[in-house]
Amino acid sequence: ATNAINRGILWERYETDEDEVFWKLSILNEFEQALGRGDVWVAYQPKLDLHSNAITGAEALIRWIHPDRGFIRPDRFVRAIEDAGRIDKLTLYVLERAIADFAPLGLSVAVNLSMRMLGKNKLEAPLRDLLETYGMPAEKLTLEITESATMTDDQGMAELESLRALGILISIDDYGTGQSTLSYLKRLPASELKIDQSFVRQVLTSRSDAVLINSTIKLAHELDMRVVAEGVEDQQVLDALAGMECDIIQGYHVGRPVPLAEFVSKLPHKITSATVAKTAAPRRS
Ligand code: C2E
Ligand code: MG
Ligand code: MG
Ligand code: MG
Repeated sequence: ATNAINRGILWERYETDEDEVFWKLSILNEFEQALGRGDVWVAYQPKLDLHSNAITGAEALIRWIHPDRGFIRPDRFVRAIEDAGRIDKLTLYVLERAIADFAPLGLSVAVNLSMRMLGKNKLEAPLRDLLETYGMPAEKLTLEITESATMTDDQGMAELESLRALGILISIDDYGTGQSTLSYLKRLPASELKIDQSFVRQVLTSRSDAVLINSTIKLAHELDMRVVAEGVEDQQVLDALAGMECDIIQGYHVGRPVPLAEFVSKLPHKITSATVAKTAAPRRS
């Protein structure tokens, strides 16, 4: 019986590793083609500003709906593409889409930045170019980075400083789950903290989470940073966060990540008609 169990376990492990390797290879093989076919696209999740009670922007989230596999989890395929050293292409694709889509709306957009992009000087020139081409003011673009060791090495830090100098905003994503220390907060040129959903979801049920969120908001404000809460799924959580003076709310309660047309269709009429008037033609010079 012991042997059978051992064999079972071994077999299972073997299967899993093999599947993982195979999965990665096919994902990498198919990615470029999927981009070209439109199977890879960018969804937008609205951000609600609690001060003005208006949708002031969105987070861009990559999507891949595979003809056979269906929805592929973005964190999973993004990691595979990172591991293969091909993250630049993905990032620049999302950046161009987001800037092209949001410049005519006059709203803000946030793009997730893989840490593997930092410290290689691959961002500043294309970003400057994209903002100019589509006529987006730099302060309408936020780059979301997750807490990790690389972001505070000298090269990474210098690059973040140079992006900040262009006027682009830096946000610390999934705040509270990474290796954040107080010195990160002091050193990073960030203007926004995004409190991770794992804390937000428990704000009503866990006293310690409520205390952590409340004091994080106070701390961020003292440091002149604004605070976004992600993963807000109901009105009670929204109310609790508003009571703690959280600045911006993101989550299914406000809206799910959706294609651009659906995002725009839910905006107030004023913004939508302004977009139509301007048309989305880029200003190529
Ligand atoms: P993230 O940047 O922290 O994005 C937030 C995730 O939470 C998104 O998952 C979003 O769909 C989900 N979410 C938002 N509101 C709620 C809610 O109320 N409840 C629940 N349960 N979930 C909510 P998604 O789209 O699956 O993305 C997962 C992660 O993949 C992202 O986490 C980000 O780290 C990464 N990712 C997505 N798009 C990109 C991209 O273009 N580039 C890079 N480098 N990473 C990306
Ligand atoms: Mg994010
Ligand atoms: Mg996050
Ligand atoms: Mg996350």
